[in-house]
Amino acid sequence: MSNADKPLNFLEHIIEEDLKNGFSRDDLRFRFPPEPNGYLHIGHASSICLNFGLGLRYDAPVNLRFDDTNPAKEEQEFVDAIKRDVTWLGYQWNTERYASDYFQQLYDWAVFLIKEGKAYVDSQSSDEMAMQKGSPTEPGIESPFRNRSVEENLQLFTSMKNGEFEEGKHVLRAKIDMTSSNMLMRDPIMYRVLHKAHHRTNTDWCIYPMYDWTHGESDYIEQVSHSLCTLEFAMHRELYDWFLDQVVSQDKVRPKQREFARRNLSHTVVSKRKLAKLVEEKVVIGWDDPRMPTISGLKRRGYSPESIRNFADTIGIAKRDNLIDVSLLEFQVRDHLNKVAPRVMGVLDPLKVVITNYPEGEEEWLDAENNPEDETAGSRKVPFSKEIYIEKEDFREEANKKFFRLKLGKEVRLKNAYIIKAESCTKDTDGNIIEVQCTYDPKSKSGSGTEESLRKVKGTLHWVSIKHAIEAEVRLYDRLFTVESPDTHKDKDFMDFVNPDSLEVITGYLEPSLQEAKIGDQVQFQRLGYFCVDTDSTSEKLVFNKTVGLRDSWAKIQQKN
Ligand code: ATP
Ligand code: MG
Repeated sequence: MSNADKPLNFLEHIIEEDLKNGFSRDDLRFRFPPEPNGYLHIGHASSICLNFGLGLRYDAPVNLRFDDTNPAKEEQEFVDAIKRDVTWLGYQWNTERYASDYFQQLYDWAVFLIKEGKAYVDSQSSDEMAMQKGSPTEPGIESPFRNRSVEENLQLFTSMKNGEFEEGKHVLRAKIDMTSSNMLMRDPIMYRVLHKAHHRTNTDWCIYPMYDWTHGESDYIEQVSHSLCTLEFAMHRELYDWFLDQVVSQDKVRPKQREFARRNLSHTVVSKRKLAKLVEEKVVIGWDDPRMPTISGLKRRGYSPESIRNFADTIGIAKRDNLIDVSLLEFQVRDHLNKVAPRVMGVLDPLKVVITNYPEGEEEWLDAENNPEDETAGSRKVPFSKEIYIEKEDFREEANKKFFRLKLGKEVRLKNAYIIKAESCTKDTDGNIIEVQCTYDPKSKSGSGTEESLRKVKGTLHWVSIKHAIEAEVRLYDRLFTVESPDTHKDKDFMDFVNPDSLEVITGYLEPSLQEAKIGDQVQFQRLGYFCVDTDSTSEKLVFNKTVGLRDSWAKIQQKN
């Protein structure tokens, strides 16, 4: 994963500029700072690839920092899942850190700010404070508690820390400027009282620091040189700098916040809060449901880390928010699986075909190439017999010239096997075709080298021998949402756009070589798409997920543009 030969993105240009201006290369340091309030999603993958990519490019350490300042929403389960996902994506952090490791230091600095007259305890309700905030065009109003004495502030803040107040009674605010044109500078809250156990510090604290107060100081403690976050924090930069100004010493690295655009993916939502709702309301079976845009969902769906990294690389880093079409992600996984996934045959919507001139009771094990894209992949044997399944849609009694599959009186090749010709078919009382009778050309066996085997016929079909086929549960997925951008519709909730048909469970009939398939194995069902063995699979009952179809809708979108 060398990053050295990739063109520079705009953040790398900023770093290069800093290096030119004398910043020491040895002082470069980055972090990826998730809040453990949910599982990582494809949006996070961009941030992970960016930060760890910088680590690789500059041979600099990258910390994994859990931004765990809100015990109401954070859990150990999420910490574990995040570590698993970052590792699975192929990255190694330098050290594992927690904002909660710094609670004492942050508290000491807050006390220092109080002593400097730069922070005060406000005893108003949140509604009162909101009313004084003003608007971008109107200055705010100073709190009546703004000029409390240092002694009183220290005493109140200590009591807050000691758990003597209920939630909402007091907050600690930075004393900055109620007339600032940046609303965030109007005496932002630094601490609130929360009587909640924290997944790491337990009940040690009943005041918790706010994001703005925590983030920059944590960067400083870790000596992160470039703190990269998404655009919604652009306005926070002034505050980030103000908080740093209060504590930095000259001889240390002063972290620099820079922003890049969030990545949104079409037909889904990339927000832990919204994804949590899908889990809570059982729209999906869990955070790792293969329909979820979470890293663990994509993994279970059959995406490889390479394809996710390639996706993040391809979309790159942008300065403006935009929506990326999910077909680009699908293109990446297809591209990867095309190279590595063995080809197998499976029929998902079976129609029985009887080969009338094939000897009763006979079977043959035919050579089948595992992957035409990979010479080293070798070959396997597939059984052939008198009764086979083909896909229902591959047969028609009559069809026009463009239908290259099986129709009465015409020939097709069975993949890895013989040329067959449809002679007649049988229907049930409702007129549905339930069986096709064919004859085969015994000399046409694939790879036999005979003149007949080289004969060109228009269509090639996949099939399975009925008596050898193994049954498996196959889960087919569609988009989780029916619209491109479910969370940007006015007056509508994203939940209104959940696709009720995003999962279809069917029985597939597969060639027997798949009996040995293990959880996570990836294959191409020829002509159908890429599939992988789901974590629900057992040796008694195989379960496959459809990862992605074979058809490339991304190429079509690009052609249109
Ligand atoms: P969410 O709303 O899903 O909880 P978040 O930004 O609150 O997202 P964090 O855990 O704080 O989630 O994110 C960790 C890092 O990942 C942050 O630096 C954040 O900016 C970045 N990140 C989160 N979502 C995206 C996204 N869609 N695209 C790019 N980066 C993202
Ligand atoms: Mg968040």
